[in-house]
Amino acid sequence: MKKVLVLAALLASFAFGKPLVYVLATGGTIAGSAAGGATDTAYTSGAVTVDALLKAVPQINDIAVVKGEQVANIGSQAMNNEIWLKLAKRVNELLKQKDVAGIVITHGTDTMEETAYFLNLTVKSDKPVVLVGAMRSSTSMSADGPLNLYNAVNVAINKESKGKGVLVAMNEEIHAAREVQKTNTTGVATFKSPNTGKIGSVFYGNVKYYLSPVRAHTKASEFDVSKLSELPKVEVVMGYANVDRAMLDAAISSGAKGIINAGVGNGSLYPTAEEAFGKAIKNGIIVARSSRVGSGETTRGGETNDDKFGSIATDNLSPAKARVLLMLGLTKTNDKAKLQEYFYKY
Ligand code: ASP
Repeated sequence: MKKVLVLAALLASFAFGKPLVYVLATGGTIAGSAAGGATDTAYTSGAVTVDALLKAVPQINDIAVVKGEQVANIGSQAMNNEIWLKLAKRVNELLKQKDVAGIVITHGTDTMEETAYFLNLTVKSDKPVVLVGAMRSSTSMSADGPLNLYNAVNVAINKESKGKGVLVAMNEEIHAAREVQKTNTTGVATFKSPNTGKIGSVFYGNVKYYLSPVRAHTKASEFDVSKLSELPKVEVVMGYANVDRAMLDAAISSGAKGIINAGVGNGSLYPTAEEAFGKAIKNGIIVARSSRVGSGETTRGGETNDDKFGSIATDNLSPAKARVLLMLGLTKTNDKAKLQEYFYKY
């Protein structure tokens, strides 16, 4: 008994002074495991628990007191609105606690940028929230997860990370939630911010910032999901040569309150899309023009007269992020002018 007490006191004294970080795990390749071992290219995402992830990086305990929570354990290709709401609520709850310094969220890389942007607009705190994942599974040769996780915890406890909105820390780079995009299907250097560049770097735990996001986020965001159990339905449809109208009509008649067109070039519309969307707009559905290009702005009134057509332009948000913002915008208003303003503010 005495020995246990001495040990507890010893542990407490070690913990004293170290910041408390919660690691909320959602799955992904960082928690992936391959049956065929170190060189197997096939693996299952979300197979390893948060406890195992943390155990693999004991160095984290030198810098922080870390508590793990399993929020989900999925490949992020299966991420959904329900888990987003659950995550936002849990993050807000934890960050209200005085003793919590920051949060790290382990996440699959496929939809990491969407989750990051959703939280960027719904977390009500300026404490750091950092998303991290891996491109190689935990059983892979040269797995990138452990160092990425170590770096993410370092970003979460760094004073300069405060007030920068939700961050993504991957492959020694720090990116702002609004800007970051996955740009390569398999490479470890996949996360880039094509319109602005990374905002910082983290090298074996050494954090440096070069830029600060200027668009409104977290505490300055007007979106509040604390009382919501679902989000307005918004769908994305792709622009390409020879678009069949049936595809568009299916999306429009699916009950969607909003449609994002991942258009060609400057968010331009194929003639069938112009017909279908014109009708949808008349029926009160919000149509927002975005671009499939991957960088650059979809300008209001480019090759589509948005004033006349009744559509919204999504600035330089990717179609997937435009969907996130339109869903949140529709929780507040159906007014097109107001929704357009959101795309310039956030
Ligand atoms: N499909 C995986 C996921 O997003 C890919 C990854 O994590 O890298 O969960």
